[in-house]
Amino acid sequence: MNNNKIALVTGASRGIGADIAKKLASAGYHTIINYNKSEEKAVEVLTEIRNDGFSCELYKCDVSKSNEVNEMFKYIKMCYGKIDVLVNNAGISITKAFQDLQDEEWDEIVATNLSSVFYCSREAIKLMIARETFGKIINISSMWGLVGGSMESHYSATKAGIIGLSKALAKEVAPQNITVNVIAPGAIYTDMMKELGEDTLNYLESEIPLGKIGKVDDISNMVIYLASDKADYITGQVFSINGGMVI
Ligand code: NAP
Repeated sequence: MNNNKIALVTGASRGIGADIAKKLASAGYHTIINYNKSEEKAVEVLTEIRNDGFSCELYKCDVSKSNEVNEMFKYIKMCYGKIDVLVNNAGISITKAFQDLQDEEWDEIVATNLSSVFYCSREAIKLMIARETFGKIINISSMWGLVGGSMESHYSATKAGIIGLSKALAKEVAPQNITVNVIAPGAIYTDMMKELGEDTLNYLESEIPLGKIGKVDDISNMVIYLASDKADYITGQVFSINGGMVI
Protein backbone atom coordinates (compact mmCIF):
# COMPACT_ATOMS: atom_id res chain seq x y z
CA MET A 1 0.00 0.00 0.00
CA ASN A 2 1.26 3.44 -0.97
CA ASN A 3 1.30 5.94 1.92
CA ASN A 4 0.97 9.00 -0.29
CA LYS A 5 -2.55 10.24 -0.75
CA ILE A 6 -3.72 9.51 -4.26
CA ALA A 7 -5.96 11.87 -6.22
CA LEU A 8 -7.45 11.45 -9.68
CA VAL A 9 -8.73 14.45 -11.62
CA THR A 10 -10.65 13.70 -14.79
CA GLY A 11 -10.26 16.16 -17.66
CA ALA A 12 -7.14 17.70 -16.17
CA SER A 13 -5.31 18.61 -19.39
CA ARG A 14 -6.83 22.09 -19.53
CA GLY A 15 -8.96 24.67 -17.77
CA ILE A 16 -10.44 24.04 -14.33
CA GLY A 17 -9.21 20.43 -14.15
CA ALA A 18 -5.60 21.41 -14.85
CA ASP A 19 -5.67 23.94 -12.02
CA ILE A 20 -7.30 21.43 -9.65
CA ALA A 21 -4.53 18.93 -10.48
CA LYS A 22 -1.81 21.53 -9.81
CA LYS A 23 -3.33 22.51 -6.47
CA LEU A 24 -3.89 18.91 -5.31
CA ALA A 25 -0.31 18.03 -6.22
CA SER A 26 1.04 21.05 -4.35
CA ALA A 27 -1.12 20.01 -1.37
CA GLY A 28 0.82 16.73 -1.27
CA TYR A 29 -1.36 14.34 -3.25
CA HIS A 30 0.19 12.12 -5.88
CA THR A 31 -2.09 13.39 -8.61
CA ILE A 32 -3.20 11.42 -11.63
CA ILE A 33 -3.89 13.82 -14.48
CA ASN A 34 -6.52 12.25 -16.71
CA TYR A 35 -6.83 13.56 -20.25
CA ASN A 36 -8.35 12.35 -23.48
CA LYS A 37 -7.45 14.39 -26.59
CA SER A 38 -5.12 17.16 -25.39
CA GLU A 39 -1.90 15.21 -24.82
CA GLU A 40 0.39 18.20 -25.35
CA LYS A 41 -1.50 20.30 -22.83
CA ALA A 42 -1.54 17.40 -20.36
CA VAL A 43 2.24 17.08 -20.67
CA GLU A 44 2.54 20.83 -19.95
CA VAL A 45 0.51 20.35 -16.74
CA LEU A 46 2.67 17.37 -15.75
CA THR A 47 5.89 19.28 -16.44
CA GLU A 48 4.77 22.34 -14.49
CA ILE A 49 3.82 20.23 -11.46
CA ARG A 50 7.05 18.23 -11.54
CA ASN A 51 9.15 21.38 -12.02
CA ASP A 52 7.54 22.71 -8.85
CA GLY A 53 8.75 19.55 -7.09
CA PHE A 54 5.43 17.76 -6.72
CA SER A 55 4.27 14.28 -7.66
CA CYS A 56 1.97 13.43 -10.55
CA GLU A 57 1.49 11.28 -13.62
CA LEU A 58 -0.62 11.25 -16.77
CA TYR A 59 -3.33 8.76 -17.66
CA LYS A 60 -5.07 8.91 -21.04
CA CYS A 61 -8.64 7.67 -20.86
CA ASP A 62 -11.92 8.61 -22.47
CA VAL A 63 -14.09 8.76 -19.35
CA SER A 64 -17.26 8.49 -21.42
CA LYS A 65 -16.39 4.82 -21.99
CA SER A 66 -16.84 2.43 -19.09
CA ASN A 67 -14.28 -0.10 -20.38
CA GLU A 68 -11.57 2.61 -20.49
CA VAL A 69 -12.53 3.86 -17.01
CA ASN A 70 -12.39 0.30 -15.67
CA GLU A 71 -8.87 -0.12 -17.09
CA MET A 72 -7.78 3.17 -15.50
CA PHE A 73 -9.01 2.02 -12.09
CA LYS A 74 -7.39 -1.41 -12.51
CA TYR A 75 -4.14 0.48 -13.05
CA ILE A 76 -4.72 2.65 -9.96
CA LYS A 77 -5.53 -0.44 -7.88
CA MET A 78 -2.46 -2.26 -9.13
CA CYS A 79 -0.08 0.67 -8.52
CA TYR A 80 -1.48 2.18 -5.32
CA GLY A 81 -4.19 -0.15 -3.98
CA LYS A 82 -6.36 2.86 -3.19
CA ILE A 83 -7.70 6.23 -4.18
CA ASP A 84 -8.26 9.02 -1.65
CA VAL A 85 -9.76 11.78 -3.78
CA LEU A 86 -11.69 11.61 -7.04
CA VAL A 87 -12.57 14.82 -8.83
CA ASN A 88 -15.05 14.23 -11.65
CA ASN A 89 -14.35 17.31 -13.72
CA ALA A 90 -14.28 16.20 -17.38
CA GLY A 91 -17.03 17.80 -19.38
CA ILE A 92 -18.07 19.22 -22.72
CA SER A 93 -20.65 21.78 -23.71
CA ILE A 94 -22.39 22.44 -27.00
CA THR A 95 -24.73 25.39 -27.40
CA LYS A 96 -27.64 24.44 -29.62
CA ALA A 97 -31.39 24.93 -29.94
CA PHE A 98 -33.23 22.03 -28.32
CA GLN A 99 -35.14 21.05 -31.48
CA ASP A 100 -31.90 20.87 -33.50
CA LEU A 101 -30.12 18.52 -31.13
CA GLN A 102 -29.17 15.23 -32.77
CA ASP A 103 -29.35 11.86 -30.98
CA GLU A 104 -25.56 11.50 -31.23
CA GLU A 105 -25.03 14.93 -29.61
CA TRP A 106 -27.36 14.01 -26.76
CA ASP A 107 -25.65 10.64 -26.29
CA GLU A 108 -22.18 12.19 -26.38
CA ILE A 109 -22.87 14.84 -23.76
CA VAL A 110 -24.69 12.42 -21.46
CA ALA A 111 -21.83 9.92 -21.73
CA THR A 112 -19.10 12.53 -21.20
CA ASN A 113 -20.65 14.67 -18.48
CA LEU A 114 -22.87 12.24 -16.54
CA SER A 115 -22.11 8.59 -17.31
CA SER A 116 -18.42 9.36 -16.69
CA VAL A 117 -19.31 10.42 -13.13
CA PHE A 118 -21.13 7.11 -12.66
CA TYR A 119 -18.30 5.02 -14.16
CA CYS A 120 -15.49 6.73 -12.22
CA SER A 121 -17.36 7.01 -8.92
CA ARG A 122 -18.43 3.33 -9.08
CA GLU A 123 -14.82 2.19 -9.41
CA ALA A 124 -13.49 4.68 -6.87
CA ILE A 125 -16.14 3.67 -4.32
CA LYS A 126 -15.06 0.02 -4.60
CA LEU A 127 -11.51 1.01 -3.64
CA MET A 128 -12.65 3.47 -0.96
CA ILE A 129 -15.07 1.02 0.68
CA ALA A 130 -12.33 -1.62 0.83
CA ARG A 131 -10.31 0.75 3.07
CA GLU A 132 -13.20 1.89 5.30
CA THR A 133 -11.28 4.97 6.42
CA PHE A 134 -11.52 7.84 4.05
CA GLY A 135 -12.71 8.91 0.64
CA LYS A 136 -13.69 12.16 -1.01
CA ILE A 137 -15.57 12.50 -4.26
CA ILE A 138 -15.99 15.99 -5.68
CA ASN A 139 -18.17 16.39 -8.74
CA ILE A 140 -18.08 19.44 -11.00
CA SER A 141 -21.59 20.38 -12.07
CA SER A 142 -22.65 23.85 -13.26
CA MET A 143 -25.01 26.64 -12.30
CA TRP A 144 -26.95 25.57 -15.40
CA GLY A 145 -27.62 22.30 -13.59
CA LEU A 146 -29.36 24.36 -10.91
CA VAL A 147 -31.35 26.84 -12.92
CA GLY A 148 -31.25 25.61 -16.53
CA GLY A 149 -29.41 27.27 -19.40
CA SER A 150 -31.22 28.29 -22.58
CA MET A 151 -29.76 26.52 -25.66
CA GLU A 152 -28.06 24.14 -23.24
CA SER A 153 -30.87 21.77 -22.27
CA HIS A 154 -28.73 18.69 -22.79
CA TYR A 155 -25.84 20.22 -20.83
CA SER A 156 -28.20 21.34 -18.06
CA ALA A 157 -29.72 17.84 -17.90
CA THR A 158 -26.30 16.26 -17.35
CA LYS A 159 -25.29 18.83 -14.75
CA ALA A 160 -28.59 18.45 -12.85
CA GLY A 161 -28.09 14.68 -13.08
CA ILE A 162 -24.71 15.01 -11.37
CA ILE A 163 -26.40 16.81 -8.48
CA GLY A 164 -29.05 14.09 -8.06
CA LEU A 165 -26.50 11.30 -8.29
CA SER A 166 -24.21 13.02 -5.77
CA LYS A 167 -26.92 13.62 -3.18
CA ALA A 168 -28.11 10.01 -3.33
CA LEU A 169 -24.59 8.58 -3.30
CA ALA A 170 -23.61 10.84 -0.39
CA LYS A 171 -26.33 9.21 1.72
CA GLU A 172 -25.41 5.71 0.60
CA VAL A 173 -21.68 5.85 1.30
CA ALA A 174 -21.63 8.11 4.37
CA PRO A 175 -21.42 5.09 6.72
CA GLN A 176 -18.14 4.19 5.00
CA ASN A 177 -16.74 7.67 5.71
CA ILE A 178 -16.89 8.66 2.07
CA THR A 179 -18.10 12.17 1.30
CA VAL A 180 -19.61 13.24 -2.02
CA ASN A 181 -19.98 16.92 -2.79
CA VAL A 182 -20.72 19.06 -5.81
CA ILE A 183 -19.31 22.32 -7.04
CA ALA A 184 -21.58 24.23 -9.42
CA PRO A 185 -19.42 26.86 -11.12
CA GLY A 186 -20.82 29.91 -12.80
CA ALA A 187 -18.92 31.52 -15.69
CA ILE A 188 -15.25 30.63 -15.32
CA TYR A 189 -12.75 31.77 -17.91
CA THR A 190 -11.45 28.67 -19.79
CA ASP A 191 -11.48 27.28 -23.35
CA MET A 192 -15.13 26.33 -22.76
CA MET A 193 -15.99 30.01 -22.26
CA LYS A 194 -13.86 31.24 -25.17
CA GLU A 195 -16.22 29.42 -27.51
CA LEU A 196 -19.05 31.75 -26.43
CA GLY A 197 -17.54 34.81 -28.15
CA GLU A 198 -16.91 38.33 -26.88
CA ASP A 199 -20.49 39.62 -26.98
CA THR A 200 -21.85 36.75 -24.89
CA LEU A 201 -18.95 37.07 -22.45
CA ASN A 202 -19.63 40.80 -22.04
CA TYR A 203 -23.32 40.08 -21.51
CA LEU A 204 -22.52 37.38 -18.94
CA GLU A 205 -20.20 39.75 -17.10
CA SER A 206 -22.93 42.39 -16.92
CA GLU A 207 -25.24 39.78 -15.33
CA ILE A 208 -22.77 38.83 -12.57
CA PRO A 209 -23.29 40.84 -9.36
CA LEU A 210 -19.57 40.68 -8.54
CA GLY A 211 -18.98 42.13 -12.02
CA LYS A 212 -16.45 39.68 -13.40
CA ILE A 213 -15.99 36.25 -14.92
CA GLY A 214 -14.51 33.76 -12.44
CA LYS A 215 -11.00 32.30 -12.49
CA VAL A 216 -10.07 28.64 -12.41
CA ASP A 217 -8.71 28.93 -8.90
CA ASP A 218 -12.07 30.19 -7.63
CA ILE A 219 -13.09 26.56 -8.22
CA SER A 220 -9.88 24.71 -7.38
CA ASN A 221 -9.57 26.44 -3.99
CA MET A 222 -12.95 24.95 -3.04
CA VAL A 223 -11.84 21.52 -4.28
CA ILE A 224 -8.79 21.68 -2.02
CA TYR A 225 -10.99 22.57 0.93
CA LEU A 226 -13.50 19.77 0.22
CA ALA A 227 -10.68 17.26 -0.23
CA SER A 228 -9.13 18.21 3.12
CA ASP A 229 -10.02 16.93 6.58
CA LYS A 230 -11.45 20.40 7.33
CA ALA A 231 -14.46 19.27 5.26
CA ASP A 232 -14.92 15.88 6.91
CA TYR A 233 -18.42 16.77 8.15
CA ILE A 234 -19.64 18.07 4.80
CA THR A 235 -21.41 15.72 2.41
CA GLY A 236 -24.18 15.82 -0.18
CA GLN A 237 -23.85 19.58 -0.61
CA VAL A 238 -23.78 21.77 -3.68
CA PHE A 239 -21.41 24.75 -3.62
CA SER A 240 -22.43 27.47 -6.05
CA ILE A 241 -19.40 29.52 -7.06
CA ASN A 242 -20.71 32.08 -9.51
CA GLY A 243 -20.05 35.66 -8.38
CA GLY A 244 -23.66 35.89 -7.25
CA MET A 245 -25.17 35.13 -10.66
CA VAL A 246 -27.39 32.47 -9.13
CA ILE A 247 -28.43 33.13 -5.57
P1 NAP B 1 -12.39 22.90 -20.81
O1 NAP B 1 -11.38 23.98 -20.62
O2 NAP B 1 -13.11 22.78 -22.10
O3 NAP B 1 -11.68 21.49 -20.46
C1 NAP B 1 -12.44 20.32 -20.50
C2 NAP B 1 -11.60 19.18 -19.99
O4 NAP B 1 -12.41 17.99 -20.04
C3 NAP B 1 -10.38 18.92 -20.85
O5 NAP B 1 -9.28 18.63 -20.02
C4 NAP B 1 -10.77 17.70 -21.66
O6 NAP B 1 -9.67 16.84 -21.95
C5 NAP B 1 -11.68 16.97 -20.68
N1 NAP B 1 -12.54 16.01 -21.35
C6 NAP B 1 -13.56 16.23 -22.21
N2 NAP B 1 -14.08 15.07 -22.64
C7 NAP B 1 -13.36 14.09 -22.03
C8 NAP B 1 -13.41 12.67 -22.06
N3 NAP B 1 -14.31 12.02 -22.82
N4 NAP B 1 -12.53 11.97 -21.32
C9 NAP B 1 -11.61 12.61 -20.56
N5 NAP B 1 -11.51 13.95 -20.49
C10 NAP B 1 -12.37 14.67 -21.22
O7 NAP B 1 -13.54 22.98 -19.70
P2 NAP B 1 -13.56 23.73 -18.28
O8 NAP B 1 -14.18 25.05 -18.49
O9 NAP B 1 -12.26 23.60 -17.60
O10 NAP B 1 -14.67 22.83 -17.55
C11 NAP B 1 -14.34 21.82 -16.59
C12 NAP B 1 -15.63 21.35 -15.94
O11 NAP B 1 -16.28 22.48 -15.33
C13 NAP B 1 -16.63 20.78 -16.94
O12 NAP B 1 -17.31 19.69 -16.36
C14 NAP B 1 -17.60 21.92 -17.16
O13 NAP B 1 -18.87 21.48 -17.56
C15 NAP B 1 -17.62 22.56 -15.80
N6 NAP B 1 -18.03 23.97 -15.82
C16 NAP B 1 -17.29 24.91 -16.47
C17 NAP B 1 -17.74 26.22 -16.47
C18 NAP B 1 -16.98 27.33 -17.14
O14 NAP B 1 -17.50 28.45 -17.17
N7 NAP B 1 -15.79 27.11 -17.65
C19 NAP B 1 -18.93 26.57 -15.83
C20 NAP B 1 -19.66 25.57 -15.20
C21 NAP B 1 -19.20 24.27 -15.18
P3 NAP B 1 -9.02 16.66 -23.43
O15 NAP B 1 -8.95 18.03 -24.04
O16 NAP B 1 -7.70 16.04 -23.11
O17 NAP B 1 -9.93 15.73 -24.19
